[in-house]
Amino acid sequence: MVSLSDLQVRSLGACTVDSPLALYVEGRTTNEYYVGETDRILYDDTLELIASRGVPLAELPTFESGGPRQKIFFDPATTKVGVVTCGGLCPGLNDVIRAIVLELNTHYGVRDVVGFQHGYAGLIESNGHDVVELTPDFVSRISERGGTILGSSRGAQDPSAIVDRLVELDIDILMVIGGDGSMRGAHNIGAEIAARGLSIGVVGVPKTIDNDIPHIGQSFGFSTAFAKAAESIKAARVEVEAAVGGVGIVKVMGRHAGFIACYAALANHDADFVLIPEVGFSLDGDNGLLALLERRVAERGSAVIVLAEGAGQDLIPASDRRDASGNAVLGDIAGFLREQISKDFANRNQPLTMRYFNPGYAIRSVPADASDSVYCARLAQTAVHAAMAGRTDMVVGRRRHRFVHVPIPFVTSGSHSVSPDGDLWLSVLESTAQPFSMC
Ligand code: ATP
Ligand code: MG
Repeated sequence: MVSLSDLQVRSLGACTVDSPLALYVEGRTTNEYYVGETDRILYDDTLELIASRGVPLAELPTFESGGPRQKIFFDPATTKVGVVTCGGLCPGLNDVIRAIVLELNTHYGVRDVVGFQHGYAGLIESNGHDVVELTPDFVSRISERGGTILGSSRGAQDPSAIVDRLVELDIDILMVIGGDGSMRGAHNIGAEIAARGLSIGVVGVPKTIDNDIPHIGQSFGFSTAFAKAAESIKAARVEVEAAVGGVGIVKVMGRHAGFIACYAALANHDADFVLIPEVGFSLDGDNGLLALLERRVAERGSAVIVLAEGAGQDLIPASDRRDASGNAVLGDIAGFLREQISKDFANRNQPLTMRYFNPGYAIRSVPADASDSVYCARLAQTAVHAAMAGRTDMVVGRRRHRFVHVPIPFVTSGSHSVSPDGDLWLSVLESTAQPFSMC
């Protein structure tokens, strides 16, 4: 059970420097811009959960509030900040970089901001990647482009060598924009910094296009990603309706969590089946996918399957391949399904026109949509406030419409996935009319 101590964010020390944001607060009757250090956001969101704890209010699990503090830890005049993006691409990375640089410059007057290129590899001096100066001019228009202007990479890097580089370059704060692996890396860097007794902050803006990082609310780029995926589902629907025995398969991202598949399918109700890693399915039997597909095509003339890349992995031989970061390479479920469906329709002499869509890279590389752009900027600003106030080993998130600080070990200790018993999956079942169990 989550306790208050799980949610305590580490701080580099007492905050003694007046925040330059005073300039903006001056003349106001309240200091409404500032976050009260004791004002915290409840972890539980129902009365029953709260009551079940049976503990005094002060012991209830709560998140530290995000936002600007009246007193900060770092003196902006001498603070140097480094920014790095790691892992796979996701819409909104450039928006986050831009907002970090502009918030540091505009509100805090921090002029010394640099970018490390190609992920953590750019923090290893012997790799020879140049350090890029990040000025407001340089970043002002970057959010119009997808990808990350800093580049990214996978692969293990030595935290000790990274801290050597931070010290050599006089970096006070490292801002890490990346996924679960990047946050594990950030925690290791923070631990190495603490072991050396240094006052360097490490603050993360979590990036996960699959929306599989827990406790942070919705991840940035997710809404852009599922809207883009929904376009492919719509295209698949048009294609299969024009064909004889049309079956469309749209493969979307979702290694362990099927959020993109579910939301994209719900966005336009064009899917007949949604297959996600969290819910198993069989091919054979009266309630298996093949029989259901056959019936759906017979009834409606065509069908569209939305397939998360991590679905049905138990149906195909396990792969022992790993990527550079040690993540398991998934088996090709889309290829397997195409083959099985083709064979099945041929065996029954049922006409089939298969259309396969794999929009993965097209989804990852688009710029953030308007809603995600706003979200990216606000997450990045929250991360800057936290970092300037000396917080470390933490990421920013949003709970109950409030920006919060979450300790990295808390977010890396689990993962966020679609509950087969939850209301999201129920909505998908309602939209597709696929049976509750396909086993
Ligand atoms: P995503 O999976 O969303 O693309 P990610 O951040 O999880 O993003 P990874 O390639 O797994 O992507 O990790 C990015 C970087 O984080 C790696 O280059 C590596 O340096 C570091 N990293 C990954 N896994 C770990 C780990 N378990 N412990 C420490 N560092 C890690
Ligand atoms: Mg990852």
